[in-house]
Amino acid sequence: MAPVIGVTATLKEDLETTATRPLGKFIRTDFDYVEGVAQAGGVPVVLPPVVGHRDAGDIVGSLDGLLLSGGSDLHPSYYGEEPLPELDIVIPERDEFEVALLKAALRRGIPIFGICRGMQVLNAALGGTLYQDIPSQLGPEGLRHCQETPKWQATHEVEVRGGSAAAGITGGDTVKVNSYHHQAIKDLAEDLVVSAYAADGIVEAVESRDLSSRWIVAVQWHAEAMRGAGVEHRRFFEAHVDAAERHALGRAAA
Ligand code: MN
Repeated sequence: MAPVIGVTATLKEDLETTATRPLGKFIRTDFDYVEGVAQAGGVPVVLPPVVGHRDAGDIVGSLDGLLLSGGSDLHPSYYGEEPLPELDIVIPERDEFEVALLKAALRRGIPIFGICRGMQVLNAALGGTLYQDIPSQLGPEGLRHCQETPKWQATHEVEVRGGSAAAGITGGDTVKVNSYHHQAIKDLAEDLVVSAYAADGIVEAVESRDLSSRWIVAVQWHAEAMRGAGVEHRRFFEAHVDAAERHALGRAAA
């Protein structure tokens, strides 16, 4: 049986009504995420942010793996800060849902893959903090992390730590990545280790301290959009689906 991978969706509100489409709320997930999971051999299931923490355990109980997708800023109250003026759009339903889902996934031990916002939610939920806005908090000297070129184009490089899971997945010590984030990890959560940095010191990938007991891998770049640009980006999806399959087999055997 192919492992079932939950992919978190976002909530969109239509603010303009048309003759054929009334005002309403919609869920939205970039197709690249679900296609990435499917091509890696998993069964993608899109998870809309509709339930409270009471149901998160039930949802996770039906999954073999969790993919936290990219998107809006996490409200800084999740890491004990007041919002700065540069904070971008926040979707409270999504924040609440994903943090509850993540905690349930950690309890159940299913493999977790985070992308962009997903990496930031992971760090905050595990006790770390974020820069709410890189340019205003760290100054303009660093790399440009908010690119305006298409998503499949790499704009900066990251240096991967030797011996890390990310190094095993990518098979190299540098990876060319896209960059669509104005936030970044500030204080790293205790349970995580950095597996890649950008040249300006921004954290670009993290993983769990002991991958064999708890498979958690997260990247700051949009790997889902670069699957056609390099095999190393596809391999993150494959590694996640493989880990989910091993976890499901382990549960079945227990
Ligand atoms: Mn970046």
